[in-house]
Amino acid sequence: MHSYVYGELEVVQLLAFADNYLYLISSDSRQTWTAIDPGDAGVIEQALEQLGGRLTRILATHHHVDHVGGIAKLKDLFGAKVYGPQNCKKDCRVGISSLDKDSSELEDHRIRLLEVPGHTACHVAYYFAEHSCVFVGDALFAMGCGRLFTGTMENLHASVQNLLSLPEKTQVFCAHEYTLRNFEFAESLGRLSPEQKARKNRVLTLRKDELPTVPFLVADEKATSPFYTSSLAKFKECRLLRDIF
Ligand SMILES: [Zn+2]
Repeated sequence: MHSYVYGELEVVQLLAFADNYLYLISSDSRQTWTAIDPGDAGVIEQALEQLGGRLTRILATHHHVDHVGGIAKLKDLFGAKVYGPQNCKKDCRVGISSLDKDSSELEDHRIRLLEVPGHTACHVAYYFAEHSCVFVGDALFAMGCGRLFTGTMENLHASVQNLLSLPEKTQVFCAHEYTLRNFEFAESLGRLSPEQKARKNRVLTLRKDELPTVPFLVADEKATSPFYTSSLAKFKECRLLRDIF
């Protein structure tokens, strides 16, 4: 469990399955919590026991089971209100029946909803502009992005570009620890730049102690990710190569 504090916003990062990150966030000194992409209810329950406070809200970025698998149970246990991309009902079979509201109806106006389709046809990110952090699910990873499932390559490219157009100081909280593997992929494309080498060294140091490389900065991603390109053709080539890496 790792905790990050941005003003009154606390972000608690929890590891689940092999390499998923689930999040609990609170902006009232741990009295109430919002869970983001709770793929595993047990992990959230256990964390809440330690942290104290009530789970009042659940935000889902997209319908994949490692992101929504814990929602039904948590909703039953805590009566938390569930938000997610409502319009993805058609391609969702898991978890979506627990959705109460479309994310665009979030009553907390400090959270900005970003539509980031591609990995799935409906995928949203939750942006806390005041606190300079964004929760992106599988739309963006450190040195990478989620593969195409039900969206289009054009969607995916535009979503990565849009997320990386956020202010450079924005901390990106993604849902998987894929950074080192993504660096191996970047190396397969050619020699690393000095910026990439420096970032890789920082990542290696963290991973040696099994520490998370997430969150990461938009600035670092723009300086080093092979997926940050205005060219759709280049992006597509990179994505297809990564799929078979
Ligand atoms: Zn996914």
